[in-house]
Amino acid sequence: MTAEPLTRALFAKPVRFVAGVATMEQFPELTLPEVAFIGRSNVGKSSLLNALVNNGKLARTSGTPGATRQLNFFNLNDVLHLVDVPGYGYAKAGKKDVRKWQGLLFDYLRGRRQLARAFVLVDSRHGVKEADNDMLELLDDSAVSYQFVLTKIDKAEQLEEVQQKVMAVAAKHPAAHPSIITTSANEKLGIDGLQDAVIEALVGRL
Ligand code: GDP
Repeated sequence: MTAEPLTRALFAKPVRFVAGVATMEQFPELTLPEVAFIGRSNVGKSSLLNALVNNGKLARTSGTPGATRQLNFFNLNDVLHLVDVPGYGYAKAGKKDVRKWQGLLFDYLRGRRQLARAFVLVDSRHGVKEADNDMLELLDDSAVSYQFVLTKIDKAEQLEEVQQKVMAVAAKHPAAHPSIITTSANEKLGIDGLQDAVIEALVGRL
């Protein structure tokens, strides 16, 4: 329980790194609700996480796509955990690495009762790709609620078309939230909408 009403002011509160998890045995026994951020490598996840909490250092932006292979847990003011899930779909990743990563992710998603919602980030210039579909299947199988977030809309040339297509994908997946969020970390667009969605996901969990 929290005495504080949940508002966007939460995202200006202190955030601290709790754990980086590379194997199932290391998953921390956390009781706070959490939201996870998932997407293809280079989708702009680190930048968006930093914009979400207004913190330049929370998630290091990746110089080497696909380099981070652990789930990073951040505690936001003892209210919730933000979970930064390593990017998938990096072309140069070896098969063994991909299998290991999928196993880790499945272990995490399966039965993670704290997980209130997963945000699936999609680059607004590219739309939903094959690697995303594999991810959606995993989320569907794990019965995790998720919501699409379009990233880098400052660079999108056919935003409306991509938006329609992603909404059509969402409509086909019962676990997907019907509305999608459009963002640009660079231009700080849609960040309030993402904050509201995190709060919405937490309602009833605190
Ligand atoms: P991650 O690998 O998913 O964590 O992605 P990063 O946050 O490291 O970003 C990948 C690349 O996309 C970097 O070159 C960023 O500068 C760029 N990027 C991230 N967010 C935006 C955005 O909102 N707009 C634009 N134009 N570029 C972005």
